[in-house]
Amino acid sequence: MLHLLRPPSHALRRPWWWLALAWLLLGALLAADLWREHQRIEARERALLAQQAGVLHDNLGQQLDAINHALNSLLTDLQRAGGPAGGGRRLGERLRNFADAMPAVQRLNLLDAEGRVLASSRPEIVGRDLSQREYFQVAARVPSPDTLVIGRPREGMQGDWVLVLGRVVPGGEGGFDGMFAATLDTGHFKTLLQSVRYAPDMLTGLTHGEGLRFLALGSEDEPVGLDMAQPGTLFARHMANGHSAAVLQGPVRPGGAQYMMALRAVQSEALRMDRPLVVEVGRPWDPIFADWRTQARTLVLAYLLAGLAAAAGLLLVQRRQRQLNAQALCLEAEQHRQQDMLNRLAESLPGVLYQYQVEPDGRSHFPYASPGVADIYGYQPQELRDDAAPVFARIHPDDLQPGLGRIQESARTLGDWKSEYRVILPGRGERWLSGQARPQRLEGGAVLWHGYIHDVTDAKQQALRLQDTERVLQQLMSDMPVGLCMVDAARRIYFRNRRFLDHFGYSETEVPTLHEWALHAYPDADYRAQVARAWGQAMAQAPSQDGVIEARPYRVTARDGTQHVMDIGGLVFGGHFLATFQDRTEQQAHSEQLHRLAYVDGLTSVANRRHFDQALQAEWRRCRRSGQPLAVLLLDIDHFKQYNDLYGHQQGDACLQAVAQVLRSGLSRAHDFVARYGGEEFVCLLPECDAAGALHKAQALCRAVQALGLEHAASVPGGVVTISVGVACQVPGPEGGPEVLLRRADMHLYRAKSDGRNRTVGGAEPPI
Ligand code: GH3
Ligand code: MG
Ligand code: MG
Repeated sequence: MLHLLRPPSHALRRPWWWLALAWLLLGALLAADLWREHQRIEARERALLAQQAGVLHDNLGQQLDAINHALNSLLTDLQRAGGPAGGGRRLGERLRNFADAMPAVQRLNLLDAEGRVLASSRPEIVGRDLSQREYFQVAARVPSPDTLVIGRPREGMQGDWVLVLGRVVPGGEGGFDGMFAATLDTGHFKTLLQSVRYAPDMLTGLTHGEGLRFLALGSEDEPVGLDMAQPGTLFARHMANGHSAAVLQGPVRPGGAQYMMALRAVQSEALRMDRPLVVEVGRPWDPIFADWRTQARTLVLAYLLAGLAAAAGLLLVQRRQRQLNAQALCLEAEQHRQQDMLNRLAESLPGVLYQYQVEPDGRSHFPYASPGVADIYGYQPQELRDDAAPVFARIHPDDLQPGLGRIQESARTLGDWKSEYRVILPGRGERWLSGQARPQRLEGGAVLWHGYIHDVTDAKQQALRLQDTERVLQQLMSDMPVGLCMVDAARRIYFRNRRFLDHFGYSETEVPTLHEWALHAYPDADYRAQVARAWGQAMAQAPSQDGVIEARPYRVTARDGTQHVMDIGGLVFGGHFLATFQDRTEQQAHSEQLHRLAYVDGLTSVANRRHFDQALQAEWRRCRRSGQPLAVLLLDIDHFKQYNDLYGHQQGDACLQAVAQVLRSGLSRAHDFVARYGGEEFVCLLPECDAAGALHKAQALCRAVQALGLEHAASVPGGVVTISVGVACQVPGPEGGPEVLLRRADMHLYRAKSDGRNRTVGGAEPPI
């Protein structure tokens, strides 16, 4: 893996070659520039030196000219005077005048052919023998009347150097007749030499044509008196090359410092000198180029630094590049990994992940489809890469046009595409597919969807089955003989079946919620509160009873005002509940009827014997607990058999009803109780009534029956229906039961009959 992170070595080396090339090129340019600058400095220095040498040359030449001219003039005068011998004293004066006129000239002498001073600007040296002087010997040896003899300079008494210029005085037939000699003080030329110096390190000098330097300014190392004509010296080279002027570079003397030196021989044709004088103007080589060397050093340093900086920069760039490459490779590896992950994910998906593209000309294809497309459409991804038509051929004919419409709509609005449609796959028949995709408009107008399609056949079939079941359930619920409604968590009634609507008549808009329903169904506020409590309890118990809300009877008021007894129960599920309403009104009536049959006497509508028996037991127990007396009145219609016989059985029944009604009306207290004991006998229970009260009540009843005035012809003595009453009263004790009390009442009744009827017998009974 690591080798992937490194770029190939030639790719890394190439910039280095380019950098080296650029660096060398820059170096070459710099070198060329430095070289040009060197040349320019050298040329300028040469020109300057040559120019200064020219100044020296011209100046010295003029002075030599002047001296030569003076000597010439003296020579002419001498010849005119008939030769040296005729010069006499007047010549000496003339010599002095000339010497005074020319500041460089120390003295002027006239020597005879033997070298003795004939005349002089200094009279004291007249007669001195100067025949050994080099200039005299040169002049005597080769006497040339037109030539200015340049004597070899020599060191004077005071250490100064003197130069003697001479002109031969010609004798007869080319002979030698003496000479004029002008002794020059070379110190006089120092000012001239000084005037051409333009730099402190300059060397200016004058050298005799034979090589003796007799005047030098500017360098301690270059003393006067040296012979400059040694091989290799600048002077020797100058003399050898034959030119009168030259600028040369080299040692001034063997082993000496290097100089650039302008040399110029002062030897004009007009002057005819026997040996030249050479002026020298020079500068040591090193100082000339000192600035250049500094500049060169700086440039070279800058050049090296630039090279180093460029190399360092390139190194850094390459390192950064390597880092970037490594990052890019990591990124690429990560992309591969993600692509791989996506592929695996796509492979493991039950459906197909895909890209579907519609070109501006309408053609469409699947640029990408995961392998699941084989399950969905029965094609491999590569079969659909260029053309999507095979897919459309598989879509159910009924779903094709709507499907295409949805695609076009999505392409137009760039809204998500969602669809459920059928395909017909070979060997697998009709399958339901569900898909959704998000469109994206590409440059050039194509639209590309990214989406997912999966097979929903099973779910679809299940949903369809569920729909059927729901429909049946809905129908069932609607048609059920039980009222049903469903209430959500917000207590909104969202379902009512037909029976519910029929039962109560409230429309959905009238009672949209449970609250409104309660207001209408339970108009009485107290009862409504009661219902709310009861319903709340039932709901609270529901979770412990598998969600079943126990059915309880409630009195519901319908829209038409009728009241219904309803068993309301139901089922809690989630936050919702289903309430069931079962009408109990008829059942209630029926049970009341049964109750009546069981406990009410059919003829007289007062309680029957069974009812009385239960009531007696209950009241007995109650009075025993409370310690209150219980009275029993046993009543029997007098001569009733005869009544029946006389007026008929039907009339007898009516009589019984009338008597019962009187008895019922005669009992005013809530707990008083009247029952038909059997035949024409009645019994009354008076709880918490003492004997006196009971007797009093019995008598009152007797009177009330009599007062009815029902004709009874056979009854003696009143001729109306009467009754006889036996009264028994006692406080029930812990022992025994009410049977004794009843028996005693019966005994008292018997007494009342036997005592003559239409009367009351009895009272307090002793405790049992
Ligand atoms: P006493 O004064 O001694 O009570 O004489 P009595 O005739 O009333 O008494 P008895 O017991 O001999 O007669 C009771 C009669 O009551 C007999 C019966 O025909 C009549 N009776 C009983 N039950 C009914 C009934 O339901 N309807 C009619 N019309 N008569 C009844
Ligand atoms: Mg009787
Ligand atoms: Mg009777």
